[in-house]
Amino acid sequence: MTLILENFRIFALLRLNGSMKKILVTGGAGFLGSHLCERLLKEGHDVICLDNYFTGSKRNIVHLMGNPYFEVIRHDITEPFDIEVDQIYNMACPASPVHYQFDPIKTINTSVVGAVNMLELANRTGAKILQASTSEVYGDPFVHPQPEEYWGNVNPIGIRSCYDEGKRCAETLFFDYHRQNKVKIKVVRIFNTYGPRMLPDDGRVVSNFIVQALKNEDITIYGTGEQTRSFCYCEDMIDGIIRMMNTDDEVTGPVNLGNPKEFTIKQLAELVVELTGSKSNIIYHPAVQDDPQQRQPIIDKAKAMLNWQPTVELREGLARTIEYFRGIV
Ligand code: NAD
Ligand code: UDP
Repeated sequence: MTLILENFRIFALLRLNGSMKKILVTGGAGFLGSHLCERLLKEGHDVICLDNYFTGSKRNIVHLMGNPYFEVIRHDITEPFDIEVDQIYNMACPASPVHYQFDPIKTINTSVVGAVNMLELANRTGAKILQASTSEVYGDPFVHPQPEEYWGNVNPIGIRSCYDEGKRCAETLFFDYHRQNKVKIKVVRIFNTYGPRMLPDDGRVVSNFIVQALKNEDITIYGTGEQTRSFCYCEDMIDGIIRMMNTDDEVTGPVNLGNPKEFTIKQLAELVVELTGSKSNIIYHPAVQDDPQQRQPIIDKAKAMLNWQPTVELREGLARTIEYFRGIV
C-alpha cells in the first residue's frame, strides 16, 4: 500500500513538472519490449503497450497490469493506428530466425508496412520515434568488427531476407520520413541480446542452449561452432535504447548497440554447460543457410554520443538468465 501511494506521488510530481511522457511501445509484450515498458514505468511515464502476441505474451507484462499508467492494446502494426503520444519505440517484429521464417511475408510486412504506419503516426503527432533495427543489416559481413558506416553483405532472396531486408527497408523509410517530413527519428542497430523473458522455445541460441542444458538434453550447435556472436544483456540494451531516445532532435543514428566482446558459439555452449552444471553433450548439426559467420559491434558512437557501454559480463548475464529459466522449464 505504501509503495502504491509512493508511486502515485512520483507520477503526480512528474505530471506537475511536465516530465511525464506518453509513450507507445510496439511489441511491448515481447522480450525486449516488456523490459522497456517496465523501465519506462519505473521512470514515471505513461506507457501504452501495443502487441499482436505473435511472439510476445501477456505473461511478460502481467506484473505491470495493475499500474494505472500502463495500458495494453492488442493491435497489429501492419494496420494503421492512431493515438496521441510524445514518443514511439517501434520494437514490434519477431526476432528469432525460427519465428521470422515461420511466415516470411508477414515478417517483411511487419517491418515495412508497420514502419510506415508508425512513421505516419509520428508525422501527425510530432512524436519522436525510435526504430529497433538490427545487426542483421550487416548480413554476413566482410568488414569485421562492424562500424555503422558499413553497408553490409545481405542476400536479398534468401531465407533470412524477410527479416534483414525488411529491417533495411525500415531504416530507409525512417531516413526518408526524416528528410522529407522532418520526423524526429532515432535508429539503433541492436546486436544479439539475451536475458529473462526470452521464450523457452524461442529458437535463439542463448535460450536454446540454456533450456537444453537444464533438461540435460543434447546441446545443438549448427555448423562448426566457430561462428561468432557478441552477446549483450537485456538491462544494458534497454539502458542504451532509452539513452538514444533522449538525445537531442538532430541525433538520428544509426547507432550500434551491443556488447563488443565476441565469443564463438562453441564457447557459449561450453559456458552454459559449466554454469548450469549440466550433463548435456554438445552435438553438431548442419549449418543453417546464410548464417553470418562473425558479428561484433564497434560501439564508439554509442560511447561518445550516449555515454553508454555494456556493464554486464556474459558469465553474469547468463547466470541471471539461467536462474529465470530454472523457474519455468
Ligand atoms: P520478440 O519476438 O520477443 O518481441 C517482438 C514483439 O513484437 C512480440 O511481442 C510480438 O508479439 C510483437 N509483434 C510481432 N509482430 C507484430 C505485429 N505485426 N504487430 C504488433 N506486434 C507484433 O523479440 P525481441 O528480441 O524482444 O526483439 C524486439 C525488437 O528488437 C525486434 O524489432 C527485433 O527485430 C529487434 N532486435 C532484437 C534483437 C535481440 O537480440 N533480441 C537483436 C536485433 C534486433
Ligand atoms: N545456433 C546454434 N544452435 C542453436 C541456435 C542457434 O548453433 O540451437 C547458432 C546459429 O546458427 C547462429 C548463432 O547460433 O550461428 C546465433 O543464432 P541466433 O538464432 O541466436 O541469432 P542470429 O543468427 O540471428 O544472430
